[in-house]
Amino acid sequence: MFEAPASPYLVPFDGNFRIDEASTVPITDGHHHSGVHRKAATDHLKQLQRVLAAGDRHAVLLVFQAMDAAGKDSTIRAVMQGVDPSGCQVYSFKKPSSQELDHDFLWRTARCLPERGRIGIFNRSHYEEVLVVRVHPQILASQKLPGEVNLETIWDDRLKSIREQEEHLARNGTVILKFFLNVSRDEQKRRFLARLDHPERNWKFEPRDVVERRHWDDYMFAYQEALNATSRPWAPWYAIPADDKRYMRARVADIVIATLKGIGLRYPEPTDDDLERFAEARRELEA
Ligand code: ATP
Ligand code: MG
Repeated sequence: MFEAPASPYLVPFDGNFRIDEASTVPITDGHHHSGVHRKAATDHLKQLQRVLAAGDRHAVLLVFQAMDAAGKDSTIRAVMQGVDPSGCQVYSFKKPSSQELDHDFLWRTARCLPERGRIGIFNRSHYEEVLVVRVHPQILASQKLPGEVNLETIWDDRLKSIREQEEHLARNGTVILKFFLNVSRDEQKRRFLARLDHPERNWKFEPRDVVERRHWDDYMFAYQEALNATSRPWAPWYAIPADDKRYMRARVADIVIATLKGIGLRYPEPTDDDLERFAEARRELEA
């Protein structure tokens, strides 16, 4: 397994994370990435991804969760910019289909897990099952669960399933990093209003998002429970301040790069047999 990079935004593994104490604005005087820094980060990630692919041992899973308008899409775009598109895949998880509801709640994301050598990105994820569903437990009625649903235990049961699945994946070579993009309620309001104000952003405005906003406190509680139950050394959560988008993207990029550097990726070394075969191939090519 790997060492979660240190960060003031790392969610502790002991269950003591308090969401109302997690800052939505930068708490380090850490920099934005300047143009030069951004370019360096992009090049670095590109390089690391090539070695990840060549080594073909680890898979990397990046999970993004957030309230609406926190900037999931633009962060994913910014961080993965320049990475070989064939080396990474982005999946966005919306309301489950009827086929997906015919399976257990981890099935649909499990099918999208990255293979060795690749970076998989989840834009929303299996965590929706303990977030939106917890805030709106009536959704459970459509999930075809057997027997009576016990609302006292179901969330802890689900969180346990998630924790165990992630530990299993980590033991088998998947490096998991999870980002909660932590936007404030005021900043969300500003961004929604901007979507209404600017015709070219109107398409992003979703009246339902304003309704969802009424449940802010319930969401914060659900996030706090989920992050406490599942931030572990093998699958850490980072609660990244999201009110400043450039700062947020820079911090996510830094953590992804530090993680990949930390797992000791290397190009595979040719064996003696390989070297013999290379020599043979060279003789044939040169003949
Ligand atoms: P954007 O608005 O930026 O396009 P989005 O991720 O908000 O991206 P939407 O289509 O607006 O996408 O919303 C997807 C909705 O699906 C969210 O409200 C989310 O909570 C919901 N959703 C995701 N997974 C589940 C799930 N397992 N059960 C019920 N609802 C879910
Ligand atoms: Mg949306």
